[in-house]
Amino acid sequence: MKSSAEEQLERRLMFETLLSEVSANFINLPAERIDDVILDTQRRVCELQGLDFSALWQLALKNPRYLYQTHVHRPAGGPFLPEQMEAESNFPWVLEQLKSGKIVAISTVAAPKDAARDQEVWRRYGVKSSLTFPLSAGGDDLLFGALTFGTMREERAWSEPQIKQLELLAQVFANAILRKRADYKLQESERRLKVATDAAGTGLWIMGMDTDDVWVSEKNRDLFHFSPHEKVTYERFFTVIHPDDHELVQQAVDRAFRSGENLVIEYRILLPDGSIRWIGSRGQRDGAAKPFRLMGASVDITERKEMEERVLKSAEEWQTTFDSTPDIIMILDEDLKIRRHNAAAITFFGLSSPEILGRHCHDLLHETKEPSLDCPVRRSFQSGVHQEEEIYDTKRHVWYQISSDPIPNQEGNVTRIIHRIKDITERMKAEAEARKQWEHLTHVTRTGIMGELTASLAHEINQPLTAIQANTEAAIRFMAVSEPDTGEVSQILKDISRDNARASSIISKIRALLKKEPTPFTVLDMNELIADVLSLLRADSLLQELVIIRDFSPELPPVFGDRVQLQQVVINLILNGTAAMKQVPVDRRRLVIKTENQKESVVKVSVADFGTGIDGQNAQSLFEPFYTTKPDGMGMGLTISQTIIREHGGTICASNHPEGGAVFAFTLSVQLENLT
Ligand code: ADP
Repeated sequence: MKSSAEEQLERRLMFETLLSEVSANFINLPAERIDDVILDTQRRVCELQGLDFSALWQLALKNPRYLYQTHVHRPAGGPFLPEQMEAESNFPWVLEQLKSGKIVAISTVAAPKDAARDQEVWRRYGVKSSLTFPLSAGGDDLLFGALTFGTMREERAWSEPQIKQLELLAQVFANAILRKRADYKLQESERRLKVATDAAGTGLWIMGMDTDDVWVSEKNRDLFHFSPHEKVTYERFFTVIHPDDHELVQQAVDRAFRSGENLVIEYRILLPDGSIRWIGSRGQRDGAAKPFRLMGASVDITERKEMEERVLKSAEEWQTTFDSTPDIIMILDEDLKIRRHNAAAITFFGLSSPEILGRHCHDLLHETKEPSLDCPVRRSFQSGVHQEEEIYDTKRHVWYQISSDPIPNQEGNVTRIIHRIKDITERMKAEAEARKQWEHLTHVTRTGIMGELTASLAHEINQPLTAIQANTEAAIRFMAVSEPDTGEVSQILKDISRDNARASSIISKIRALLKKEPTPFTVLDMNELIADVLSLLRADSLLQELVIIRDFSPELPPVFGDRVQLQQVVINLILNGTAAMKQVPVDRRRLVIKTENQKESVVKVSVADFGTGIDGQNAQSLFEPFYTTKPDGMGMGLTISQTIIREHGGTICASNHPEGGAVFAFTLSVQLENLT
């Protein structure tokens, strides 16, 4: 039998062994096992010390007014202990003591006066005596919890050595809990970093100066196609890196290790399927660790690289086009200063690029800074739309087309202008030449028409001349008598004068038609113009064999145009209609010339015949140059007519008449403002 003193001694020894075992155990205890070992220790302490319960409380991190019961050993049972309770209202006195770093040892019955409220709560939970230690991170106000031991069956007095031993245990627990919290925080920040880096597609890596092994995150394994459990070494990394980029990466890593300079590189990797990806890596030397470690992050930048290449390529293409165009192109800012220009501008101004850039465009172009009121650049800035004009440079003897295109920014405001100067001298010359040729051609065709009409025109002039001849002879006869009838002679002379006027009017009409130069636009009455033409043509043998019906609108508004050109169109249509009826019986040969006011502002003239009509297949070709079905035709009549009508702002078209034959009609617009 052991004496009670022996037993006591044995228990004390066991308890001391437990304490040293626990203290040693906690040092290397993994964070996730701390809770279990605390609970187990609470149990063993209670057993060895004959205690009824041990409870560990922690102040809530978010709301430190609350106490949470995190570790409880309470074999004796008793009233239910809430998991969470408000510290201040339940244990105001104990909390005060703990906050000032004191250990609270009380017997519920003999509690101090100030602890009335605490006493009441202990009693409610059946606690007879209790010993509570503050759990703190060091310092007075860093209390984060409490560890309580207690009895429920009987009162217990707490001895000084016992308090000291349990205090040691409380410190071991406090340290373990703090370590667990720090560990949790670290895990938490690691988890956050992983979430963030994974979301950004970033793979993390750490390489040491003294070791070949490289630590890589899961994402990094994905990026480099390393298998999940494969050991990654420095050499293994290089098996993936594109051979052409080995040196680049090698040097950057060496530099970062040696000088501590940040690692920033972009390189290619070759994947097992042969595809190439671009990786961007950034790293930093870990200054604290020796031998040095290099830590960094890698991200797949293939898409960005491809986009950059595309942008670069299109920029290069653009620059090439920009420079190869012979036109002078400049980009101007709001102050009309040149911000960019192409190679042609250098040749044009005879200045170097730095001499051109920043200069005011008018300064260079017109040797004046003030843009003229109608300057296209200025108009373009004001109106926000394309502006263009053609000017003749009297110094250089060159024609230029000057255009300005506004470039709006994202807000839609015009902040830049593309100013383009194009040498159009050649085009202008060609246009002038074409115009000359055209005028020549229209003249030739007109002369041709006149040639066709020579017989009838001669007849037209002959008529008044014959009358003059006859009248002159009559006058001579009258004058031969001794007392001539002066009244009769004066009548004859009037007739001669009238016939002379008629002949000279015919000649001046023919001369007008044969004139080479274009005549100015004038106000014209189309009824009168057609009547004039008919008077010239009426002696034509063919025209004599047909009926011409004038269906003229009496209220035809005047049009504005070139008399000679419009006469040419009418003559052409009349002669074509006449020619088309050459083969039809004489009694069917009718030409209806109609004028009408189609809409308020349009005059329509149509010439209808009862001839062959238009072959459907050829309807499109009629107006094409040199299309003719006549053996001696030139095929330019309708082409010229169409051009003339278009130049007058009208249209011309051909169709078949329901009763047979063709109808050619053209329109001219009534230009009211030109009527006054
Ligand atoms: P050309 O009279 O020298 O042939 P045009 O350009 O005036 O030149 O006419 C081209 C062709 O259009 C004519 O050769 C003819 O075939 C056809 N054409 C013109 N007017 C008529 C018409 N009133 N009826 C039928 N065919 C016509």
